[in-house]
Amino acid sequence: MTEGPLEWLALARGTLDRVALHRRDDAWLEAAWADPGTRVLVVEDGRAPVSYEPRPALALVPPERAPDGDRWLLGVDDDGTAYFGTSGPLPEIEGTRPGGLRRVGALLDDRDSGLLTHAVALEHWHGSNRYCPRCGTETRPASAGHMRVCPKDESQHFPRVDPAVIMLVTDEADRILLARGPQWPADRRSILAGFVEPGESLEQAVAREVKEEVGVPVRDVRYLGSQPWPLPQSLMLGFTAKADGGVPLSPDPEEITDAAWYTRDELREAIEAGDIVAPGPLSIAAQLIMRWYGGDLPKMPDF
Ligand SMILES: [Zn+2]
Repeated sequence: MTEGPLEWLALARGTLDRVALHRRDDAWLEAAWADPGTRVLVVEDGRAPVSYEPRPALALVPPERAPDGDRWLLGVDDDGTAYFGTSGPLPEIEGTRPGGLRRVGALLDDRDSGLLTHAVALEHWHGSNRYCPRCGTETRPASAGHMRVCPKDESQHFPRVDPAVIMLVTDEADRILLARGPQWPADRRSILAGFVEPGESLEQAVAREVKEEVGVPVRDVRYLGSQPWPLPQSLMLGFTAKADGGVPLSPDPEEITDAAWYTRDELREAIEAGDIVAPGPLSIAAQLIMRWYGGDLPKMPDF
């Protein structure tokens, strides 16, 4: 578990063929929507109807039960069933309660995890990008929900994803660096992370963020995997890096408090004693820490 790429990431498990070639095929889209076998995922403010027994699963509806509104083609499964997403009031379905990615993203099966991640990302993007950045005119959805077009200047706009690096930094004694953001609960700890800036590579972003946040230079920056994090629109890119030269930690108080190195024993004892709370298994942070730790952390929450 301590070698190789990350094997399991909760929000990177989608199984559908996204069939991008059908997104501009109006006849295909109409036929798919007219098919009672088609399934629709309705999302409202990042949540969807979820049935929890016997295990969490999305409650999908046929097109006739979906609210009116723009539709987004999410993909097609191996049996040829088409899946759409739409935003609107959640349908009343017996035995379901609304659930979002934080609550159920790690518990859903692969198909449903991918559907919800995709739909939540599109819902947020459409909701927050209604106007043309060039001329301010209200844009229109196109390409089955994967583009918006300005009717005035015909400019095309695609869903945005903001790359963010997250890195497990180890020192020469193979201890990991955990820190707390100033806004976090007092016992919360995680590894360092930050957004990639314009004109910067991923590796440069890793080194810059670690230097800015705790004053430590790093080397051997290594990519291990990624997962979408549409909360609201990030792509988390996971790395390991080694602290270079035993430079002492000097946290930037605006970004970091309580930065410290932990051995495996120290981490286990701190969690068991309730002194710190580690990230939940939904996050790539937890997967990076578990990979270093060599298995599940103590008190891993069940959501
Ligand atoms: Zn425009």
